[in-house]
Amino acid sequence: MARTLAAGNWKMNGDAGLMDELATLAAHQGEDGPDVLICPPATMLAQAVAATKDSRVAVGGQDCHAAASGAHTGDVSAAMIRDTGASAVIVGHSERRADHHESNADIRAKAQAAWAAGLLPILCIGESEAERMGPDTLDIIAAQLDASVPDGATGETLVIAYEPIWAIGTGRVPTLEQIVETHDMIRARLVARFGDEGDKIRILYGGSVKPTNAAEIFTAKNVDGALVGGASLKASDFQPIIDALA
Ligand code: PEP
Repeated sequence: MARTLAAGNWKMNGDAGLMDELATLAAHQGEDGPDVLICPPATMLAQAVAATKDSRVAVGGQDCHAAASGAHTGDVSAAMIRDTGASAVIVGHSERRADHHESNADIRAKAQAAWAAGLLPILCIGESEAERMGPDTLDIIAAQLDASVPDGATGETLVIAYEPIWAIGTGRVPTLEQIVETHDMIRARLVARFGDEGDKIRILYGGSVKPTNAAEIFTAKNVDGALVGGASLKASDFQPIIDALA
């Protein structure tokens, strides 16, 4: 496992053209470098695993149900994602929290389901614009972190993605100072709870990361990579972000 991670979230985008982009990306990775992960829609997981075979690009889901099986029409379990050959899953993305009313407790249960299936959860937290403007921003993010992350997390079994909701897909990015302050707070909280392991848990920044701003964001000590939406859809956009981490 490399210390740094470039993770791409394709959201509800995916077609043959995107599979070609993924094959290009996979072919481009050398032996060393940051970990690279692409999270396509669930229907494309097996295809994405095949397209990245024998490369350093890993594949992950975008969500999983907390239950192992049962009457949950339209959902997929963590084990189903694992069965495709994927190795990770995003949980708690703000679009899931908003569109599907997922609570911190739901997300904690999903992270535990991911562990039970042998998947690495990429657990998302982040504040709304109103929360960023208010006086309690860091307390709000801290409360979300505490309530979403299950006990027993380690550097090998958890990745946190700090994604300010107002920065996702908007082209707006917090100042470097805000990113540093927030990531430092998250790190301190993880260390207070998990000791040395808290220091090893990777903390990604997400929200309008582009080839033009990645290098500056990655100068922050506690930024261990990025969760990237729009700019993960083209190998020519995503590769410079990966390179900025190397
Ligand atoms: C995301 O979907 O998690 C994300 C950060 O999107 P974008 O990079 O497009 O802001």
